[in-house]
Amino acid sequence: MELHQLNISELQVLLRSREVTPVEAIQAIEGRITTTDTRVRGYLSRDTEKALREASTADVSKPLGGVPIAIKDVINVRGESCSAASKILKGYTAPYDATVIQRLRAAGAIPFGRLNMDEFAMGSSTENSAFQKTANPWDLNRIPGGSSGGSAAVVAADEAFGSLGSDTGGSIRQPAALCGCVGMKPSYGRVSRFGLIAFASSLDQIGPFTKNVRDSALLLNALCGKDPMDSTSLPLPAEDFSRELGRDIKGLRIGMPKEYFIDGIDPQVNAAVRAAIKQYESLGAEIVEVSLPHTDYAVAVYYIVATAEASANLARFDGVRYGHRTDNPQTLLDHYGKTRAEGFGEEVKRRIILGTYVLSSGYYDAYYLRAQKVRTLIQQDFEKAFQKVDAIICPTSPEVAFKIGERTNDPLKMYLADIFTIAANLAGICGISIPCGFAEKDGSRLPVGLQLLGKPLEESRVLQLAHAYEQSTPWHRERPRL
Ligand code: GLN
Repeated sequence: MELHQLNISELQVLLRSREVTPVEAIQAIEGRITTTDTRVRGYLSRDTEKALREASTADVSKPLGGVPIAIKDVINVRGESCSAASKILKGYTAPYDATVIQRLRAAGAIPFGRLNMDEFAMGSSTENSAFQKTANPWDLNRIPGGSSGGSAAVVAADEAFGSLGSDTGGSIRQPAALCGCVGMKPSYGRVSRFGLIAFASSLDQIGPFTKNVRDSALLLNALCGKDPMDSTSLPLPAEDFSRELGRDIKGLRIGMPKEYFIDGIDPQVNAAVRAAIKQYESLGAEIVEVSLPHTDYAVAVYYIVATAEASANLARFDGVRYGHRTDNPQTLLDHYGKTRAEGFGEEVKRRIILGTYVLSSGYYDAYYLRAQKVRTLIQQDFEKAFQKVDAIICPTSPEVAFKIGERTNDPLKMYLADIFTIAANLAGICGISIPCGFAEKDGSRLPVGLQLLGKPLEESRVLQLAHAYEQSTPWHRERPRL
């Protein structure tokens, strides 16, 4: 096995025994990127010299000592570009480290590389990046999912041991599913968003992409904690999220929401997820049918709440403080209008317009306020279900990766890619996607993702369940041929 193929836990063993140095770990990743990323196109940029310098003084006795972690281009790393894959932030250099980056560094990890994404995290295929299209490592003609498509693709392609992404409506779990890796969205409030370019502040969470469940727990250990710079981060004691890994799942109850097993799911996805449910039964878990009756409204509610918040958050990109600025404006309004017209891509403009509309006087009550009420009903659906079960199981995505270009002219169809992931953000609960098999499409073998949703702040239970399945099945060991 080559160094770049290792997962984080395996790499740590070699780093700690000094068989491998942190510098060699960076060089291994750099070598892999050089051979495969011209095809995968997951990285937007990287500063290898800087990472090597940091590696030369890394302390391997720390929890993530000497482990390079790649970062979605929406999280600030001091001295590096941070574009959110938008022309409006082209050339912007982050003046500070996001809290998650400070935390990674405190744990000894080395942030290395900036990852492609949908512009401002709006999308499900990474095709909305202003700079490049990332390919799915399992079939280079297909999308990696989104918006954290780069984060998923580089981990699946062994171009990173692990990465960070952000999840507002599924942007960690859906690309993890489509690329065949593990993606975790922590509960709302678990992880500080200070230094994350905000999309929809009541929904955004940062989380890890990894090659297996144990690594996901290790990264989460480093990321969590109260941050005075993000008032939504919860004041909770530090936890070891790996503590339940390996513990018997006998007697745990897993809910199958009947609204999530519907027509329209790809039959091969449906079959893989149902086989996974059988596997849980054979591991001793009890499968219980549950109902989430307001599921039908989740996508509609999300596209009101998320666009409303985005229209407010993106108001700061005015060409005065940072990023792109138009040439020769005639008036101040002309300056704003032209800067934003030139800087933002089509999908981002669509969201700003939608969001401004639903917040406008006369429509606020009809759309925004009503959506917030339905959001509460969706939250209550989960509260009721979680009275009966420890976790909920369902597909992460109704389908496997589609072809690049197939959906670009149909935003509504694109929005439906997140039909199974969005409710978790609206409810603030945690969720993970893990590989659960493959589907054959036009001669390609494409990963299928299994989603486990957990009660707020019960990440360790979700990780325990995910790990039990993973360790009893072969899927996480499969790698694309590149
Ligand atoms: N695909 C969804 C959207 O476009 C979710 C994105 C995300 O989670 N950042 O809004």
